[in-house]
Amino acid sequence: MSAASTHRAASVEFDHVTKSYDARATKAGAPGAVNDLSLEIPAGKICVLVGPSGCGKTTSLKMVNRLIEPTSGRILLDGVDAATRDTTELRRGIGYVIQQTGLFPHQTIEDNVVTVPRLLGWSKDRMHDRAHELLTVVGLDPERYAHRFPAQLSGGERQRVGVARALAADPPVMLMDEPFGAVDPIVRERLQNEFLRLQEQLAKTILFVTHDIDEAIKMGDLVAVFQAGGVVAQYGPPSEILASPASDFVARFVGTDRGLKRLSLFRVGELDLAPVVTAAVGSDGSAARRAAADDAFAYVLVTDEAGRPVGWIHRDRLTTGTVSSDQVESTSPLLDRRTTLKDALSMLLDADVQAGLVVDRTGVLRGRITVDDITSLMREPDARPLDATERAAADAAAGESPEGDAEAPERSARPDADDAA
Ligand code: ADP
Ligand code: MG
Repeated sequence: MSAASTHRAASVEFDHVTKSYDARATKAGAPGAVNDLSLEIPAGKICVLVGPSGCGKTTSLKMVNRLIEPTSGRILLDGVDAATRDTTELRRGIGYVIQQTGLFPHQTIEDNVVTVPRLLGWSKDRMHDRAHELLTVVGLDPERYAHRFPAQLSGGERQRVGVARALAADPPVMLMDEPFGAVDPIVRERLQNEFLRLQEQLAKTILFVTHDIDEAIKMGDLVAVFQAGGVVAQYGPPSEILASPASDFVARFVGTDRGLKRLSLFRVGELDLAPVVTAAVGSDGSAARRAAADDAFAYVLVTDEAGRPVGWIHRDRLTTGTVSSDQVESTSPLLDRRTTLKDALSMLLDADVQAGLVVDRTGVLRGRITVDDITSLMREPDARPLDATERAAADAAAGESPEGDAEAPERSARPDADDAA
């Protein structure tokens, strides 16, 4: 991983960029493929260009590595005008992944991956090591894949090789044009997830083109919604675009289910968890009944000895004597911090008890959430989901780590539990 993660990234800026393929038509007043595009993409972020077919996404992308030259305007990489740079040298610093991967059919996977390092004159050993490292990074066992030819791989595997090849010389910028468009939905989802995990380490600047709004929302730190002629209808974080579409066009493009789509950006860990009155199997039922007497929620959660939820019992049915798992009347879905609020809501709508139980990695209860908790977060005017860095910090703070779990015995010796006994 070391050489793949040197954290170099460059900002990309479109500065009043226009491209017309037909100069005569443009003179006669027809708009070009891209018209006066201005867009700033900060270093280290994934910016998704999304929009209907023919709106100028591919044209915009190809102007960055100068496969297409702008008719007017400038594209700046870390402030330097791409037009002033030697194209070969420019392209070595820009990884490029396309839908059909463009692998060389008569070269092995290993040779394909080190296409750019070979041009850069790397030694055989260094290229070999880099190819093996990158194949591992993209989830392909080098022992099995390095010596195969592209035709001997599935579509999803070829896309992985395409990504490995684009990363080979550790470019600060990656251009990805519908990179996962040609694979089936299950493989696409896996490739998306793997790529997002990879990006957490790479922190490259990525321009990612898709026509699929769901993919845009999932992959983008920032999303630029294009409309015909390379016109940016809205640019911002996905949650903002879903919460307040800037125009009818954007609203139609993101879909009437944008509220649900927005829910998929938030996670259970971002809600405040309500405490739950619990009674461990084998404990005294009357103590739990007393503890639940004043709670707005009339149910007590039966847990096993380790604190893992078994199910609910109405507080009035807790009699004296020990609590047993046979008394459980209903159950709730189990959620964890990483469950999206969309999935959580869907599970809650399906459940007997309208409360979801949030558990840690070992299955031990952390608290409960309700549909109301979800809707009230969504109604907060400036609710925005955590980004990847913030989420990692929040997970660490929540003790979703071996050190954190070591605190659990201390917490179970709660003063209120002692009082009740
Ligand atoms: P997208 O990637 O959003 O589907 P493109 O950037 O490929 O859109 O195309 C934008 C517009 O430019 C379309 O109207 C397309 O027909 C036109 N176009 C693209 N490439 C060429 C070309 N080489 N010559 C002429 N017109 C082109
Ligand atoms: Mg295209």
